[in-house]
Amino acid sequence: MNWSYIAGFFDGEGNTGTPLGHSSILLNITQSGDKGKLLLDEIKEYLLTFGIIAKVRPRTPIPNRKQCYMLWVRPSTSLLFLRAVLPYLRIKRTIAQDLIRFKLLYPSITTSPLAFEFRKEHAIKANAPRIKDRCIRGHEYTVGSGRKWCRECLKLYYKNKVARRTKWAQTT
Ligand SMILES: [Zn+2]
Repeated sequence: MNWSYIAGFFDGEGNTGTPLGHSSILLNITQSGDKGKLLLDEIKEYLLTFGIIAKVRPRTPIPNRKQCYMLWVRPSTSLLFLRAVLPYLRIKRTIAQDLIRFKLLYPSITTSPLAFEFRKEHAIKANAPRIKDRCIRGHEYTVGSGRKWCRECLKLYYKNKVARRTKWAQTT
């Protein structure tokens, strides 16, 4: 087992990308039959030696077809996988490069060390004592229906909602 072999499989029977509205990289390789499953298990073991975590799961069976199996790479380790296979890729080279660049440009705000200062700032802000008779934007609370709520923010929310809807209507 080596990286060029895995890259070949990934190029042909693999799939990668980011789901709409998310920044995590989903990465999988599909194989059919019990022999395919053995192969995926072997790949899984090999990946683990590089700290890349993956799991092999059966796909929803289709009548009159061989059972398919999918190897899923854990999104937090998919960047390691892409970097390792990149030199051997032919078809998926562009998408792999795009995803690596995308991750460099937009590091995770919750896990990346680059965003540490931001998280610290946010934690300080969130834990700071604030006047409880005003909302987070500084408007005065309206007391009603058993709880505090902000009339101004609600107005703003509905205004934006209408704006979003009209924008959506214009684009379609
Ligand atoms: Zn408010």
